[in-house]
Amino acid sequence: MKLPARLEALQKLKARLAETLEAKLEPRERETARRDHHAYRRPRPCGMTIHTGVGCNVGCLYCYVPDMGFPLKPRPYPLNGLQLVYALVLNPYFVPGPDGTLLAFGSVTEPLLPETVEQTIEYLRHTRNYLGNPQQLSTKLVVQGELFERFTEALEPRANILITITTISKAHILEPRAPPPMERFEFARMLVERGINVTLFLRPIIPGVTDRELDAILSAAARAGVRTIVPGSLRVTPGIIRRLRASRIVDMAEIERRLPRKPRSSRDQVAIRETDLKNLVARKARAYGLRVLPSSCSANIRSHGLACHACIWGPCGNPKLLPRLVEEEVAEAAELLGCRKPRVRISGFRVLVRCGSRLEAKTRNIIQSWLETLTKRTVTVIAPGLRGKGYEAYEED
Ligand code: SF4
Repeated sequence: MKLPARLEALQKLKARLAETLEAKLEPRERETARRDHHAYRRPRPCGMTIHTGVGCNVGCLYCYVPDMGFPLKPRPYPLNGLQLVYALVLNPYFVPGPDGTLLAFGSVTEPLLPETVEQTIEYLRHTRNYLGNPQQLSTKLVVQGELFERFTEALEPRANILITITTISKAHILEPRAPPPMERFEFARMLVERGINVTLFLRPIIPGVTDRELDAILSAAARAGVRTIVPGSLRVTPGIIRRLRASRIVDMAEIERRLPRKPRSSRDQVAIRETDLKNLVARKARAYGLRVLPSSCSANIRSHGLACHACIWGPCGNPKLLPRLVEEEVAEAAELLGCRKPRVRISGFRVLVRCGSRLEAKTRNIIQSWLETLTKRTVTVIAPGLRGKGYEAYEED
């Protein structure tokens, strides 16, 4: 189907879904969902983060969730499954469907905590049944027995599970209330046996800790049947620095040496420089037959048999599967989204849309989100008086 026709079909699908869900929800439930941030937040580059709970009590010393103001006592997120889907359908940035907006469960809380796991299962089931968007869930917990059955049944068939491991030998200090890493590898093995795609989330890489255990971590992951890995840097706040220092097992001089600057406040997360360690991970991972992916969205794209070249890390997935683009069709799609008299230029993996009349910044962002999701390319939208992300790159062309 051509891009404009697809766009129109997806917009109609959203409208139909909204109607269906409105009929199932009480007026108060609808109102709560409408006001929830899932109904208006712009997706991050990794997709739309789905909050399955509020707060976390696993207490990992490197975690920035407490610094973001979330409570330590976890509770399920206050929307039910239907409300969550309704909120997403109302979100103007959200694109439904199997190649639509990526869904990332568990970015600001642990989705498999006893307090939140039922909510997570409900959200997985409802987003799978109503929307079919690519699901990804990151966790360092495990579920077993009947809960394992219900959890895996709720996932869509190509869902990607990121299993977080930072250390094996120091996990009892750095992740005091998380299950031992060997239990997490066993969980990974069970998922792989179920035919579920699992990726090792080697995050954060703590210098002097993670890099010293790479062989043990990578060989355990490979034995569990894991074939992909996403390494991730340590991000610090003043609170994380304090907690890591108090652990007495982390070389803080090394962390400080790698800091590009000091974090200024609890919300100021600064990633330490770890290119050398990531290169080391990449070399070792290949030796264990693990494919290194640049980011969590890359793992999600690959798991779903999609392709993406929406940022410099791409192409991710099979580039032969990237949607073919025709400038006139992209222009027509942009017009349907509110850009008047658009002119489109496609060069490499970048798409430039010039709108002929003024646009509100929000409309520009919506056009950009939809076109990036559907074309899987970097899209820059500019209009009189409004420049777009990446505009300068085109100026240089
Ligand atoms: S190109 Fe890869 S890393 Fe970049 S947004 Fe797409 S999937 Fe993510």
